[in-house]
Amino acid sequence: MTIAIGIDDTDSRTGMCTTFLASELIQELEEYDLIGLPRLVRLNPNIPWKTRGNGAICLRFGEGVGKGIPVCQIGEKSYSSYDEDKGDLSSREIEDRVAKVVESHYRLDDENTNPAFVILDKDPPSSLYWKAVRGIVRLEEVKDMVAHIGVHRMYKNGRGLIGATSAVSWKPKDFTYEITAYRKRDKWGAPRELVKDSVIAMDKKLPSTFNNYDYEEGHMAIAPNSPCPVLFGIRGDSLEDLLPAMSMIKGEEIQRWTLFLTNQGTDEHLVRRTIGSIGAYESVIADAEVVAGPRMIQGGHLVFRISDGDEIDCTAYEPSKGFRTIVKGLRVGDRITVYGSIREDPKTINVEKLQIRSVVEVDEKIGNPKCPECGKRMKSVGTNAGYRCRGCHTQSEEGDAETVKADRTLSPGFYEPPVSARRHLSRPLKRMKSELEPS
Ligand code: ATP
Repeated sequence: MTIAIGIDDTDSRTGMCTTFLASELIQELEEYDLIGLPRLVRLNPNIPWKTRGNGAICLRFGEGVGKGIPVCQIGEKSYSSYDEDKGDLSSREIEDRVAKVVESHYRLDDENTNPAFVILDKDPPSSLYWKAVRGIVRLEEVKDMVAHIGVHRMYKNGRGLIGATSAVSWKPKDFTYEITAYRKRDKWGAPRELVKDSVIAMDKKLPSTFNNYDYEEGHMAIAPNSPCPVLFGIRGDSLEDLLPAMSMIKGEEIQRWTLFLTNQGTDEHLVRRTIGSIGAYESVIADAEVVAGPRMIQGGHLVFRISDGDEIDCTAYEPSKGFRTIVKGLRVGDRITVYGSIREDPKTINVEKLQIRSVVEVDEKIGNPKCPECGKRMKSVGTNAGYRCRGCHTQSEEGDAETVKADRTLSPGFYEPPVSARRHLSRPLKRMKSELEPS
């Protein structure tokens, strides 16, 4: 029987990365076979107590059947994974060894680090995954769920049990892959040495990969900014392309690598909602009409308001850079679909992606109206108060001004922020071919 190990909440902002424990576990449990790929599962991106990307891992072990494929390498040693299992491994058999791996890496000193692991003989229901990626899960409900299907250990408040169990409950429908390359230990915390041109060359050569390089910012998005052991991660839709992709990257030595199956780039955090039914900590898809804005606020963020009967503000934050040019082009009356996460205070949708469904015609004023008596330009009486002719005293309405149809720069279609401003779970337009093709 395959057993599944789930781990979460081991790291802090000052170091480590839960994904690193995948290769540590594979090494520790090397007499067993890995079944399927190691999994990196991203959960609700709006959880306030996450460290960074709210990611948890799941690995399955047993006795593999057939020919394996290499999915991890540490130094010179390569480890494979198998599609099928004929073993009868039990959770208790490996509990202490999993604990040893977790306990030798977790960062307990950080007050927000509350590690946990599960070793489950049976998968929890996939409904747990959907709740964990889209909403809030209570620790008590997860404790009840795992009580009779294996073993678990919790450290400090043990909140990591939520992520650890949810990672095991993920039944992949849509999925992508990531190859994560790790640094030599003496480099952890030091600036990463990677050759930009090699990242660009890889990005151009292998179109099945995504989010590699931000051409707008000149930024290598494959490398994290934190002092963790990760050198870089390359994401893609084709498993076969990821090893060649990694080998194209020039820079410092790779000490180990792991291939993950992940829910990154799938939009699985999003739920279609009417504005009135949007709840806290949710990520939503909302069809609506622009009713105000856009206006720039302090910090370079752009805010506009939408309505579907109920109203809510939407914000394109400063880090979304050039995407704000699109948002700036919105006008009252445009019909759009907003994809994004809810920020509670102030309540706004943090825009992750935008579909412009239709743009309205806009009349742009080019001059005051001409007097119907003498033909001279009339004068404004005041803001929105109409016009009057100085000579004949003829009055005219505000709407009588001379206008032309404005040249709308926006056209219907999908728009997304640049690579550096995207969330792990956001589905890049590159992966949305079916939606982008005209039906
Ligand atoms: P990293 O990406 O560096 O691994 P992280 O961003 O994944 O770190 P964690 O340190 O794992 O963040 O913290 C997230 C915490 O939130 C974990 O304890 C996890 O169990 C919990 N959690 C995750 N999703 C939910 C959810 N939907 N409801 C409640 N708690 C959650």
